[in-house]
Amino acid sequence: MATKILDGLVVGGGAAGLATAIGLAQAGLSIRILGVPETPRDDGRSAALFQSSLDFLGTLGVEDALKAHGAPLRAIRLIDITGALVRAPTTTFKAAEIGQEVFGWNIPNAKIVEVLSAAARQTANLTVSPDFFESFEALGDRVRVTLQGGEVLETRVLIGADGQKSRVRDAAGITHRVKPYPQAAITCRLTHPRDHEDISLEFHTREGPFTFVPVGDGCSALVWIMKPEKAEAMLTLSREALAETITRRSNAILGAVTIEGPIASVPLQKLVADKLVEGRVALVSEAAHAFPPIGAQGLNLGLKDVEALVKRLGASHAKGEDPASALPAYARDRKLDVEMRSAGVDVLNSALIADLLPFDLARAAGLAVLRDVAPIRRLAMRIGGWNAPFGGKIPA
Ligand SMILES: Cc1cc2nc3c(=O)[nH]c(=O)nc-3n(C[C@H](O)[C@H](O)[C@H](O)COP(=O)(O)OP(=O)(O)OC[C@H]3O[C@@H](n4cnc5c(N)ncnc54)[C@H](O)[C@@H]3O)c2cc1C
Repeated sequence: MATKILDGLVVGGGAAGLATAIGLAQAGLSIRILGVPETPRDDGRSAALFQSSLDFLGTLGVEDALKAHGAPLRAIRLIDITGALVRAPTTTFKAAEIGQEVFGWNIPNAKIVEVLSAAARQTANLTVSPDFFESFEALGDRVRVTLQGGEVLETRVLIGADGQKSRVRDAAGITHRVKPYPQAAITCRLTHPRDHEDISLEFHTREGPFTFVPVGDGCSALVWIMKPEKAEAMLTLSREALAETITRRSNAILGAVTIEGPIASVPLQKLVADKLVEGRVALVSEAAHAFPPIGAQGLNLGLKDVEALVKRLGASHAKGEDPASALPAYARDRKLDVEMRSAGVDVLNSALIADLLPFDLARAAGLAVLRDVAPIRRLAMRIGGWNAPFGGKIPA
């Protein structure tokens, strides 16, 4: 019996893969997604999603379900505790200043995956499975894929949404550049007695940002960037001792914190694939680009890829074309944005950890201008999505 050829096979059951699979299936393509866990792993991480990302997720029908698990971000306060000779002034950016009710919503990663998995299981034209991708063979008008359990599938296009260690990227022969940073991020959720008032608090330290991002009533997500060896030492502390250290570091701004759920340490690096498309293979999100959590560019940028891919493949499907014919246009749509944001995050991260007076002056002067000159401040917030230059934004 002839094997049925899928229109698309999506590899990776994280937020990007699930959003891709739902979007393509809703556009009428026959899709299977691999690597979707029964229960998503919770590493204490959350993602601050811009309104544009929420708008796209709204088209998939999941915006309200996602917001039910997160908190709105109405303001961002940058506080300089670098100990620099020239300290940047404390600056608060309000979404209302650019005519928005909120900058976005912060939602636990595990909840994003849980909500999208539930939606994927209800979507027509979409088969959800936990199996893992092993390898593929290009066959001219299709791709033959072998799964780790030995099953063989055929598809017109293969989409790698399988994260930073993407096996699809490597199997397609797409090279990538990696720049490791001397930083790791400690992530966990905190409860605290004082109200966060929907304000993301971002303390800037010499090693990188220390951030409390609202994630529910009386609850914030911590992203604390530090040297990897220090992060390792932090993880050896008891939960109580770590909570006490966090309270002290924040000057008890929200009172004495308690750690809820898992605590993780994530090494930070920049990764950029040299191509987004090779033949019938396309990459999205962290399979193609990953950054330190500066400016919340991670998943927000990944969802921009997903939106562009769904649009291009949906349009070609509607015309009855081979979906692979739309992939070069997808690569063109995304190339410049990915390269520019990657360079921008690099500059911001280097400025934050540089021990140089000119950077301190630039940051302090920049923040003073942004604090005091309303038109420039509004422009900065619009350009950055919600974040300002010099302070570097890190809701995470
Ligand atoms: C500390 C921190 C804070 C962050 N904060 C923010 C933020 O505020 N805002 C924001 O936008 N972004 C943020 N990010 C980035 C964001 O978390 C990531 O961009 C996002 O989770 C990437 O999603 P993804 O689906 O591309 O990859 P992943 O979540 O890595 O998913 C990849 C999936 O592929 C599966 N997989 C791997 N190999 C295979 C295989 N062979 N076969 C099948 N499946 C496979 C994996 O099991 C996994 O489920 C942050 C990151 C960090 C580290």
